[in-house]
Amino acid sequence: MDISELADKVSRCDRRALARAITLVESSRADHRDQAAELLELLRGGGREAIRVGLSGTPGVGKSTFIEGFGGMLTAQDLKVAVLAVDPSSTRSGGSILGDKTRMERLSRDPNAFIRPSPSQTHLGGVARRSREAVALCEAAGFDAVLIETVGVGQSETVVAEMSDLFLLLLAPAGGDELQGVKRGIMEIADLIVVNKADGDLKAAATRTCSDYSGALRLLRKRPQDPKGFPKALMVSALQETGFAKLWDEMRALTDWRREHGHWGARRAGQARYWFEEEVRQGLLAQLRSDEARAALERLGAQVGEGRITPSVAAAQLLEQIGRA
Ligand code: GDP
Repeated sequence: MDISELADKVSRCDRRALARAITLVESSRADHRDQAAELLELLRGGGREAIRVGLSGTPGVGKSTFIEGFGGMLTAQDLKVAVLAVDPSSTRSGGSILGDKTRMERLSRDPNAFIRPSPSQTHLGGVARRSREAVALCEAAGFDAVLIETVGVGQSETVVAEMSDLFLLLLAPAGGDELQGVKRGIMEIADLIVVNKADGDLKAAATRTCSDYSGALRLLRKRPQDPKGFPKALMVSALQETGFAKLWDEMRALTDWRREHGHWGARRAGQARYWFEEEVRQGLLAQLRSDEARAALERLGAQVGEGRITPSVAAAQLLEQIGRA
């Protein structure tokens, strides 16, 4: 495969080339990893910047309906929209519940949109890296917005927040007591809480939920990267496509403010450092899974069990051995 030709095609937003490039970064084969690194290096620093939007919500809350409608509003404004998914469920079941093209039929036929189902069959650390690289590819291809979808399971939200400029938490209308169901940590990373299904019989409950969350957000510690009034909660109906323009206005107001005040660049710089450290962690874990490391773990573990060596001395020996490898 000619990597510089692929890079050239990606930068001209050739969809098939982009899909191939993402397949390449998703591959765990060593030669593919090298080619992916070369590709990303060729595309780095092209000066193109998308707004990267993380989007989380439990199954059934309306994520695909939302992305279909909201993405459609953006493409109608002649913005190019890419949709990616970080799907922790696929790591276990091998099946994907996100980013499925059939869930977003209209958008998947839209010439201004690109939808990529989530990579599967790997652990979250691996998925995260690949998704981050896929985001970089979409950005290099000239997309204006990259939506990164995930379900509210385990660590996936943190991982998505670390590759997003903005993080939206999608919620359904609920009784007041369900506020506790949203973990504080997730509230703390949300820039906008979007209460969906504000239509028909659910409208009153949505209004109540939205005001409950507005109250809860006001109680959170003020973050330096927020202008007055953020993070905030608002309502949409993904089905009726209402509230989208207001949401987009808020998203732009927030990103404009962050750009002007240096927080946009600072966040991306912090994320780059985070991913560097994460790669180091993943690399060390991979080394721990090597045959030599396993054998040493076994041998030293037995000695620790027999009380012949202390756990900390054994650990130091093992780490030294890995460091030499
Ligand atoms: P996902 O699992 O989060 O992707 O949720 P879906 O987009 O598949 O939506 C789950 C269900 O909620 C579907 O039956 C949708 O038609 C419905 N739904 C999504 N958005 C809305 C909305 O704004 N209002 C109403 N009333 N139903 C909605």
